[in-house]
Amino acid sequence: MDWALRACGWRGHYTYAPDEAQLRDRLSVDTVAGQAWRCLRCGTFVPGDPVGSGPADHAPEVPRGRLLRDRWLMRALAIERLLRGLLLVLAAVVVFEFRSSRETMRAAFDKDEPLLRPFADQIGWDIDRSKLVRLAGEAFDLSNTALMWIAIAILGYAGLQVIEAVGLWLVKRWGEYFSAVATSIFLPLEIYELTEKITALRIVALVINIAAVVWLVYSKRLFGLRGGGAAYHAEHHAESLLSVERSAIAVPTQ
Ligand SMILES: [Zn+2]
Repeated sequence: MDWALRACGWRGHYTYAPDEAQLRDRLSVDTVAGQAWRCLRCGTFVPGDPVGSGPADHAPEVPRGRLLRDRWLMRALAIERLLRGLLLVLAAVVVFEFRSSRETMRAAFDKDEPLLRPFADQIGWDIDRSKLVRLAGEAFDLSNTALMWIAIAILGYAGLQVIEAVGLWLVKRWGEYFSAVATSIFLPLEIYELTEKITALRIVALVINIAAVVWLVYSKRLFGLRGGGAAYHAEHHAESLLSVERSAIAVPTQ
């Protein structure tokens, strides 16, 4: 998969005219259609004015190779987070609905139970010890306030997913930290859910989350790992200068 060509297809080529004459000469070429500049991402010569210009080490970082692949991974994770968030919003809506409609459900239950009793007595079914009736009673006894807080908690969790999605999509440093922390916090809950019932969806969700945390912390050098933020910024700064020089060097001198 050629990530560079794909990125250029989406966002357009990125050409840059460096102030340094030597680099400048190597990155541009005169054609019958006028001057063409070399795309820092994919290496194609693009006719027309350069998109950016200035000193080579002020050139914006144009991710290629691993950094570009990382960007795609973060976007994919962002979409997954957004879908999770939407599902949670749906779950919250269901709880709210139950909260508003159960008054009538309760009324129906209270009305029917005395009617059921003589019939149950007839068939020898002890309604006061029925597990089903007790379970139904317990569900109705969850107070409106409790249900509201459950729905609010679900909405809050959905909000976290959306913030993660935004931070990851924009490829922001805070997004990487936010995602790593927020995902880690809920890992114990996900593992606990698995002890209650194992489903394919739960396993996949857990594996994605563990992989995401490990990858974010290691690859993005979070929490001081592998040189931390300083090494991370140095890597990206070097990348911006490198992308200019590398593109220039790649062009054979005539
Ligand atoms: Zn390009």
